[in-house]
Amino acid sequence: MKVPFLDLKSQFGALRDEVLPAMEQVLVEAAFAGGPFVARFEQEFAAYCGCRHAVGVGNGTDALWLALLSLGIGPGDEVITAPNSFMATAEAISLTGARPVFVDVEPLSLNLDPARVEAALTRHTRAILPVHLYGQTADMAPILELAARRGLPVIEDASQAHGAEYGGRRAGSMGVLGCFSFYPGKNLGAFGEAGAVVTNDAALAENMRVLREHGQTRKYVHAKIGWNARMDGLQGAVLGVKLRRLDAANEARRAHARRYAERLADVPGLRLPVERAGSKHVFHVYAAHVPRRDAVRAELEARGVSCGIHYPIPIHLQEAYAPLGLPRGSFPVAERSAAEELSLPMYPELTDAMIDYVAESLGAVLRHEPASAAT
Ligand SMILES: *Cc1c(COP(=O)(O)O)cnc(C)c1O
Repeated sequence: MKVPFLDLKSQFGALRDEVLPAMEQVLVEAAFAGGPFVARFEQEFAAYCGCRHAVGVGNGTDALWLALLSLGIGPGDEVITAPNSFMATAEAISLTGARPVFVDVEPLSLNLDPARVEAALTRHTRAILPVHLYGQTADMAPILELAARRGLPVIEDASQAHGAEYGGRRAGSMGVLGCFSFYPGKNLGAFGEAGAVVTNDAALAENMRVLREHGQTRKYVHAKIGWNARMDGLQGAVLGVKLRRLDAANEARRAHARRYAERLADVPGLRLPVERAGSKHVFHVYAAHVPRRDAVRAELEARGVSCGIHYPIPIHLQEAYAPLGLPRGSFPVAERSAAEELSLPMYPELTDAMIDYVAESLGAVLRHEPASAAT
């Protein structure tokens, strides 16, 4: 059996009858850049997240960047974030001229460790930016409490956590601003590039609407320097259709995660993801951890099972961030995860037979059984 790491093609069949007419409507009305289809999705997505406003933008990196800019963050400022994210989180901070200040993560959730944040605050700190990694939110209560005490805004990078919950609140709705990517492989994915920021703050939402359109307050009247960060009209229509299926898709992921956990419970040397009590994990990534990760991954590949790694090099060890001068050993929890993390195939369309095959194959590899015994 062959199990791909991700299979976006398998989504389209079930969507076809609903998504093609929605896309046709955009073409008929020629509403290509921003426009009514984006506005309608913004309303629906804000309501889904439990927020008053959503601002649709070009991608998740734009969402983070505009969120930071809307708060006036720039040169000389510091923003606290996690070193074990996709590059875009730190990159957006750097693009404003501010400096990312990394804080190590919790060993179980691999999210920003609230106990370590306070020691990293300086008089230059302007925001705390937790990443809801793999589909589970950071431990937000202590982070929000600290932020309130120190008068700092919290910006959530919820790009992997559409529909995740923490104490009954949706990811993206707990901080001042919540940033989302709708990159095709995300839990809510466009048919191209798209992103959004959600907020309850009307002034910040208006600020981002101006910034995403060249700082324009009226046609050809520019109050400030912005950028072109509009959402594409076709993506607005596609995302509207897919948003209605998001909860069911997340439930399918959660069921797959339970099946992996049952099938892999007794495998030696394997650490499985854990869901924090009171939280809803939406398993954007099913992140297992194993020793000899690269060898295990290669042996799985030979058995037809493709896995991913999220992420092999922590951000502070990337060449792009060498100027920060943070050596190996700066963030041991994040660095160990980078060495051992193995993302098993995870998408709603996985079948039970595929999950069982992945689990059987991983068990056989870790028990050093020959390939023939697993097939
Ligand atoms: C995907 C992702 C982004 C970037 O989103 P793009 O739409 O690719 O720009 C940012 N942060 C995290 C955590 C992500 O997973």
